[in-house]
Amino acid sequence: MLMPTPTPALRNAMSIDVEDYFQVSAFAPYIRREDWNGLECRVERNVDAILALLAEQQVKATFFTLGWIAERYPQVVKAIVAGGHELASHGYGHERASDLSPAAFLQDIASAKKLLEDLGGVPVVGYRAPSFSIGKGNLWAFDVLRDAGYRYSSSVYPIAHDHYGMPDSPRFAYPVRDGLLEIPVTTLRMGSRNLPSSGGGYFRLLPYALSRWMIRRVNEVDGEPAVFYFHPWEIDPDQPRVAGIDAKTRFRHYVNIARTQGRIARLLGDFRWGRMDDIFLGREASPRVPAPSLSPA
Ligand SMILES: [Zn+2]
Repeated sequence: MLMPTPTPALRNAMSIDVEDYFQVSAFAPYIRREDWNGLECRVERNVDAILALLAEQQVKATFFTLGWIAERYPQVVKAIVAGGHELASHGYGHERASDLSPAAFLQDIASAKKLLEDLGGVPVVGYRAPSFSIGKGNLWAFDVLRDAGYRYSSSVYPIAHDHYGMPDSPRFAYPVRDGLLEIPVTTLRMGSRNLPSSGGGYFRLLPYALSRWMIRRVNEVDGEPAVFYFHPWEIDPDQPRVAGIDAKTRFRHYVNIARTQGRIARLLGDFRWGRMDDIFLGREASPRVPAPSLSPA
């Protein structure tokens, strides 16, 4: 008897933004950049835990790594590469791209790329802006990224949010410049709104079953791979608590932090996952319907 060949499930992209808890943009008003060096660093142990989790489930992922971290913890970079994961760039100093001049942005992304490539011994072609800080006001950042040798960016969040977002930009990967893809983190279209469905505080806040349902919808209804992201500090309930922060920041940073590692483990088991470059630049990349081009507003 002939059985229909099951369609293999789409492979989604798993990504980790490698930075420490004190570098989170929402803490910037409370923690001075000059004080970073003196704070307890947790990133090494947290990346180790993530690498173990990924190895257990045989998943390869993309690590958007901060130059500041790479410089101080070269073994973190080496462990990421040794694990077969994609080494990518989160810039050097975690300044929002929207706060920098084009020259300062170039300096930040070029120095991070060189540092990561020297330490990792692999080409670095992917970039994610801190706090998804490429939007209508700084579309020049795409030209700078392409000129610096990056081949893709994952820096636009097509949602409305108080800190970031460009809700009317395309929801799926598209060529934003000649030779540069923009690969947005995943949203679910509901009515006329895009709902965040791909990690960060929303993943910690929402019930796991809802997050899983949203990713399934994107795979089955949109027929597109999802792009998921999280941070090493999100699996670390023992991180030092930052004092004196406002209630909204505290809630967003710490909500369900003790449950996140378990949820990530479930997520890794419930879907197929891969590196951003394999999925979007490699053999699995499928030609997309041309997306509406972004023009400066
Ligand atoms: Zn970041």
